[in-house]
Amino acid sequence: MYFNRDSVIFLDGNWLKASELVGDLFSQTLHYGNGVFEGIRAYQTPEGPHIFKAKEHFDRLHYSASKMFIEIPYKTEELVEIAYQLLKKNNLQNAYIRPLVYLGANMALTETKEVYVLMAAWEWGRYLGNDPLKVMISSYEKQSPKSVPVDAKICGHYTNSILATMEAKSKGFDEALILDAEGNIAEGPGANFFFEKDEVLYTPNLGNILPGITRATVMDYAKEMGYRVIEKVVKPEELMEADAAFFTGTATEIAGIKSIGGHEFKLDWEDTIAYSLFLMYRQRVVNNEFRDFTLV
Ligand code: PMP
Repeated sequence: MYFNRDSVIFLDGNWLKASELVGDLFSQTLHYGNGVFEGIRAYQTPEGPHIFKAKEHFDRLHYSASKMFIEIPYKTEELVEIAYQLLKKNNLQNAYIRPLVYLGANMALTETKEVYVLMAAWEWGRYLGNDPLKVMISSYEKQSPKSVPVDAKICGHYTNSILATMEAKSKGFDEALILDAEGNIAEGPGANFFFEKDEVLYTPNLGNILPGITRATVMDYAKEMGYRVIEKVVKPEELMEADAAFFTGTATEIAGIKSIGGHEFKLDWEDTIAYSLFLMYRQRVVNNEFRDFTLV
């Protein structure tokens, strides 16, 4: 699913077939989750594949690594170049790109000097699909920022996301919404959260969430369209009064939420600000973010 016989993968300066990949099963990343990664998308444009917000993603990879005292042996510009080569070698246009920075063998809870960079790409549909989602508030709360750097994309953080997703699916929901350690809304397992009320957009402020690149993009686009966007502490009760809600993320893009905990939002997906933002997002990513666009 993520690779086939012909897939080429970048591993520490080498281009390897997926079947040739070897890794150390005593990696500190595998045993204790000490590694960092990114999720990036490339889109087909008239000029060939364009990696959306490439610099922002690889800068965040560096930021995440720094939080775990890991030094990535490549600069952002080099990683961007590798990502473009990866697309070319795999003949991919619309693709999801997964860089993973993982560590060598170390069974102690100490710094690991051996650092590896893997980058793979594959075609991947929108992570949460195209239909408005039935969401539940998770019983698993997000790690506290006093315990781990929650604003970094660290492998081990995702055990929380996996538990929340499994719980939601096992109860018949499509996705979870996770609260922070204070009981306020934080984010989805792999996406940021927004809601709409009287034509204003609201989203949880930074501090307990991953500062999503799509979140920042959507905030820019909304302001460009003349909407106010307010970052604030969001209490779960407030959602009962909201007109609409949605998730944002690289893999997800913009996904509408139909209901939370069985409570349905007033607006139909096509009548939401999120839907207009989604159309704008699609236009920008396929036409390249620097081009003019028209909203259809
Ligand atoms: N929150 C979490 C926990 C995530 O894993 C992601 C996906 N990277 C996001 C938010 C959205 O971030 P971005 O828009 O940068 O993909």
